[in-house]
Amino acid sequence: MLPNRCLMCHQHICSDNRGICAVCLQASIYQGDICLGCGRTLQLAMAFCGKCMLSNKLKVVAPCSYHQGLGHWVGQIKYQTQFAVIDVLVDALIVRINDLVSKECLVLPQALIAVPLHKQRLQQRGFNQAWLIAKALSSKLNIPLLDGCLYRTRATEPQAGLSGKRRRKNLHNAFELSTQINVQRVALVDDVVTTGATVNEIAKLFASAHIQVQVWCLARAEAPDCG
Ligand SMILES: [Zn+2]
Ligand SMILES: [Zn+2]
Repeated sequence: MLPNRCLMCHQHICSDNRGICAVCLQASIYQGDICLGCGRTLQLAMAFCGKCMLSNKLKVVAPCSYHQGLGHWVGQIKYQTQFAVIDVLVDALIVRINDLVSKECLVLPQALIAVPLHKQRLQQRGFNQAWLIAKALSSKLNIPLLDGCLYRTRATEPQAGLSGKRRRKNLHNAFELSTQINVQRVALVDDVVTTGATVNEIAKLFASAHIQVQVWCLARAEAPDCG
C-alpha cells in the first residue's frame, strides 16, 4: 500500500494516496520560467536563454531541479522502488508541459519513448523506471508509448560518478533504433537528466532519422559546466 503520509513533511494526506502533499510539492517545483537547455531561471517566458539558443540545445522539460527537495525522491524510485512518487511528479511534469505549450515554447510530441536499460540491468533491477514514468505520461496525456524501437547495444558503466567527458565516451554508440518510427516528433522520457550525455547520444540517432526530439524527465540536475 502507498503511504498515507507525505514522504517529505510526514503530515497526513487526506485527498488520496499520493506520496507527496500539495504544499511540499508546490514548494519544491520550479517557481518560474526555466531555460530548457541549461535549467537556469529566465526573466521572460522563452524556451532558451541566449546562450542555449545559440548552441542548439535539446529541450529538456522537468518540473523541478534535482537539487531542490524532490530530486531525492526521484532517486528513490530507482534505488528504493518508491513508486508512490511517480504519479504526483508525473502530474507536476504535465503542468509544466502544458504551461510551455500554452506559451508556445513547446509542441507536443506524437509519441513517447522511454530511455531503455540494457537487458542485463533490467533483469537485475526488475523494472525500468523511465518506462514506468513514460507509461504514466502516456495514459494521462493520451500519447502513444513506443516500445521496442530503441535499445541498448551494450551494457555501459553506470553514469553516476563519471565525469562529463567519460559519460559521453561511455555511451558512444550504446544505442540503436531497431525499427522505423513513423512520426516526426517524439519525447524521450527518463527519470533524471544530469549532464544530458544519455539523451544527447540518443538524440543523434533520431536526428539522423529526421525525427525531432525533446526530453521529458522528473528532475534535472543542472550541469555546472554549461554556463
Ligand atoms: Zn508534505
Ligand atoms: Zn540556457
